[in-house]
Amino acid sequence: MPFSGQDETIICRDCRTAFVFTIGEQEFYNTKGLADPPKRCAPCRAKKKAEKQGAQETQVAEAAWQDEREQGDSRRSRRR
Ligand SMILES: [Zn+2]
Repeated sequence: MPFSGQDETIICRDCRTAFVFTIGEQEFYNTKGLADPPKRCAPCRAKKKAEKQGAQETQVAEAAWQDEREQGDSRRSRRR
């Protein structure tokens, strides 16, 4: 096992905040097959994830989701 057996402190690449990469998280990453530690703190990771997934995710505000859905429907009916 490559675990050093202790929490790691990492500086977030985005906001420069030091955050702790705990043993539990290290194990979680290992079970997921991710060898590298995270480069961003949890809030920045969540932000990045939200930006990437955009309106496709259900985490987005309901109004935005419905708007996207309506656009999709009209696009689909127009194509037919
Ligand atoms: Zn950050």
